[in-house]
Amino acid sequence: MPAQLINGTALSQQIRADVAIRAAALTARGTRPGLAVILVGEDPASAVYVRNKVKACAEAGFHSVLDKYDASLPEAALLARIRALNADPTIHGILVQMPLPRHINPQRVIETVSDAKDVDGFSVHSAGSLASGLPGFRACTPDGCMKLIESTGVSLQGKHAVVIGRSNTVGKPMALLLLQANATVTVCHSGTPDLGLFTRQADVVVAAVGRRNTLTADMVKPGAIVIDVGMNRDDVGKLCGDVDFAGVSEVAGWITPVPGGVGPMTITMLLVNTLESAERTT
Ligand code: NAP
Repeated sequence: MPAQLINGTALSQQIRADVAIRAAALTARGTRPGLAVILVGEDPASAVYVRNKVKACAEAGFHSVLDKYDASLPEAALLARIRALNADPTIHGILVQMPLPRHINPQRVIETVSDAKDVDGFSVHSAGSLASGLPGFRACTPDGCMKLIESTGVSLQGKHAVVIGRSNTVGKPMALLLLQANATVTVCHSGTPDLGLFTRQADVVVAAVGRRNTLTADMVKPGAIVIDVGMNRDDVGKLCGDVDFAGVSEVAGWITPVPGGVGPMTITMLLVNTLESAERTT
């Protein structure tokens, strides 16, 4: 039987409707949630992401500021702007779009954002809070994946989850969130010799690699939940994930599509983090 689709667009709409209601209530009490988005350079994909984030803010009733800088912006000027936003009471979240031009150290930029406004959840403080099981901002993409898994109604308690990918922004925080939900977690990466050996044992697979057809039908346990984080282009330039969607749909129990799965959830969790940051200031 073909897998059930996990619809990230529909789930996003539900969560964003709730965010808009809470934002309106907060605004009525005198605090309008505010997000600052910084784009350095002319990377076309980054320009689209940034535009979508600002649009989502407007739709949720947030205040937003978009700073666009030339790729030649000195690092010191960027850090100075972040410090000014750290001190701005109308801003509750600061997002610096990655990747940055090569002359700018991304970690220095991330660490300059105030811990209280790190809505991307990328700082050492946020990552450390997650690893220690303490409250803090959760990285938006893995947090969105958790919401997608929750939406299936399947409990993670006692399940085996396999995460493919170990980046600081997706794979590692994903593994920690699954661990926190009492799954038994395996993390695979480019040095894993036989990926299928692990994925075939998994009740949940999260693929966060950046290479299409990394997960094929023969690598999936019947009935598994498959979450596809990847964003790639196929031979004709169409957006696709890391998972062979047509093949894996025939084996899995649940699957996210690309587009319309993880992508919309990432921006949604950014809104949630910004809203919660604003709520904490009142
Ligand atoms: P990344 O930093 O490049 O990390 C990719 C990970 O995949 C690395 O840990 C790498 O292992 C692992 N890997 C590479 N080849 C592999 C293989 N053959 N078998 C197993 N593991 C392999 O990428 P990322 O930032 O985590 O993003 C991953 C994908 O998700 C990309 O397509 C990205 O565009 C997408 N993404 C989507 C969203 C969204 O909102 N939908 C958000 C973020 C990212 P090593 O560590 O050993 O190199």
